[in-house]
Amino acid sequence: MKTSIIGYPRIGELRELKFAAEKYFRAEIGADELEKTARQIRLYNYDLQKANGIDFIPSNDFSYYDNVLDTAFLLGAVPQRYTQLGLGTLDTYFAAARGYQGEKGDVKALAMKKWFNTNYHYIVPEIDDDTQIKLAGTKPLDLYKEAADAGVQTKPVLIGPYTFLKLASYKGAKQAADLAEDTAAAYGELVQKLAALGAQWVQLDEPSLVKDMTAEDIDLFVSLYKKILAAKGGAKVLLQTYFGDVRDCYEKIISLDLDGIGLDFTEGKKSLGLIGKYGFPKGKTLFAGVVNGKNIWRNDYKKTIGIIRELEKYTQDIVISTSCSLLHVPCTLDNETKLSEEYKKHFAFAKEKLGELAQLKEILDSGDVQSSPLYIHNTALHSEKRAGTNDEVRARTAALTEGDLTRLPQFAQREKIQRERFSLPLFPTTTIGSFPQTSDVKSARKAYRTGELSQKDYESFIKDKIAQCVALQEEIGLDVLVHGEYERNDMVEYFGECLDGFLFTEKAWVQSYGTRCVKPPVVWGDISRAKPMTVRWSVYAQSLTDKPMKGMLTGPVTILNWSFPREDISLKESAFQIALAIREEVLDLEANGIKIIQVDEAALREKLPLRKADWKEDYLDWAIPAFRFVHSGVKPETQIHTHMCYSEFADIITYIDDMDADVITFEASRSDLTILDVLKQNDFRTQVGPGVYDIHSPRVPSKDEIKKAIDKMLTRIPARKLWVNPDCGLKTRGTTETAASLKNLVSAAREARNENS
Ligand code: GLN
Ligand code: ZN
Repeated sequence: MKTSIIGYPRIGELRELKFAAEKYFRAEIGADELEKTARQIRLYNYDLQKANGIDFIPSNDFSYYDNVLDTAFLLGAVPQRYTQLGLGTLDTYFAAARGYQGEKGDVKALAMKKWFNTNYHYIVPEIDDDTQIKLAGTKPLDLYKEAADAGVQTKPVLIGPYTFLKLASYKGAKQAADLAEDTAAAYGELVQKLAALGAQWVQLDEPSLVKDMTAEDIDLFVSLYKKILAAKGGAKVLLQTYFGDVRDCYEKIISLDLDGIGLDFTEGKKSLGLIGKYGFPKGKTLFAGVVNGKNIWRNDYKKTIGIIRELEKYTQDIVISTSCSLLHVPCTLDNETKLSEEYKKHFAFAKEKLGELAQLKEILDSGDVQSSPLYIHNTALHSEKRAGTNDEVRARTAALTEGDLTRLPQFAQREKIQRERFSLPLFPTTTIGSFPQTSDVKSARKAYRTGELSQKDYESFIKDKIAQCVALQEEIGLDVLVHGEYERNDMVEYFGECLDGFLFTEKAWVQSYGTRCVKPPVVWGDISRAKPMTVRWSVYAQSLTDKPMKGMLTGPVTILNWSFPREDISLKESAFQIALAIREEVLDLEANGIKIIQVDEAALREKLPLRKADWKEDYLDWAIPAFRFVHSGVKPETQIHTHMCYSEFADIITYIDDMDADVITFEASRSDLTILDVLKQNDFRTQVGPGVYDIHSPRVPSKDEIKKAIDKMLTRIPARKLWVNPDCGLKTRGTTETAASLKNLVSAAREARNENS
């Protein structure tokens, strides 16, 4: 039995690459020092894999920022506005990744998007009619050589041509198919060059094949691969898919002259079924993704070996592999000093997953699986009853009825009652929740955590910040106020820490984009709320003003989506447990005089299944009810808001209305307000606050600019339904620009009010 991995985290066990790159950005170190750090990380990763006997060690899975952007550079698909700056290659690359503002010019970064159903973001390549695709770089060759020189035979990995063309954004008339010929030629040439250097296998990653494919998509895929495979030279080509199954093109895949086919048996619901139905071709190697590359639990060897045994009915040529790149899990448990062994023994991060592959190999090679000590140990671990079951929570969520998920009276009646209660002006102004988390806030929190600042002093510090924030909002003239969220480090971590059932790590960072990493909490047991989490802050803030103060909570779907979920109970069950806890908080806020409560579902959209056929059953059918459960118990006069970070919900617009919030705010400014047409066409019922300016940039929008955005919104949205707000929280912004922007926002809303009443 042989083992393979698809890719390894590149940020470094202690985020060395992040720190080096950020130093480079600040011009504190030169390119050579950054390069040295990068090289150390790569060689260290190879050594780890070698030590675990991994047979197919990936190279070129490294990236300074993102491998889709690397591919764009490799193929010469770099917009002129970056090459024109006249910077060196590395700086041109970073200019495209992060934008450039300096003596050579002023350009924004390329767009960024979520990488399939993960929390990783890739840079969206831009292709216009002048783009000339050709082999324009040597990174995969260089990295192959670097490893070979260090004595490690690797399998270079590349983002595949189909996925690259599907992810690119086309600015001119040309579309993916128009670039197919040149793209195939470039990949063919590259594979040949790798083969000439001595590479035995080349891995082409094609996660786009697990999405719904049209007949044209299938044609594009087949034509690309026919050309590339005809030119592959001495190397063997592995077509690697992940994040799902390839039900639309499996038959085509097995008919191609590929040497290896990588399938995902973790997320690919139909992967086994496809092989059962169509078989697996002789002479090709099956790379079986059986070790979950996305979650942090120990592999269940019994289950995995069951899959391998099933596959052996169709082929003997099997390599055991991860379900996707290990990029999506933290590096290692080695640096977790605070988690006890009781917990840790259930976890496997990237390094530990290498160990699991080694063990699976050993068990399978031993010939007698059942009596292998490693196997016995693993099955014992998986049959252990884990602490953390809460019978009360289980009983409550099991007993839910439709009535628990339905808020009464219906929307229109509530709307009337709330209009009378709040008598807000036309186009009420508000913000999304957080105010700038300035360095004083961060250092106070740090001091509190290390014990340097007492709880009393910390709390009075936070209260001062809240008071200043309320005063500022009153001065600016906003209509619905917020307390500023100063007590929160992060909108999920904060609630995770307040709730029972979550575990936290110290160093378990996962790359989110570029040099940014996140440290997701782990859903360990049943979730419950021991005590109120936000009530005193909101009540204090409300005591300072006569204007309505929004209570601020994070919704169940977002908390779950930004954590490592359990695998021993369903996502649905976890979501309802979290919903129950948040619901208790909602009711407490209401009972304590908070009249408007916002429940953020920033991440609801991003875990929408990749295939349309799975949307409802696998996700929306529980995600939307879980949200409804959070607020179904409030009085008609309590106004429920929600917020979403992306406005890419055109396809699920009716589900968004079904969340049955009274008001929704969302990002719209960057997407050119295109969502407005969708709202109009669908007669969207919920009141809406499409963000009138982009908070991701330090720019201060002028009053006129905001007024224009409002006017445009009014052509699609009835005036009485429209709210005016920025498009996300202000946490990452500076104080001065925030005040200036919000003043302009209020002036613009007032001007619109005068014109429309
Ligand atoms: N209420 C949160 C904030 O303002 C929402 C953040 C988000 O949508 N990502 O920070
Ligand atoms: Zn947001």
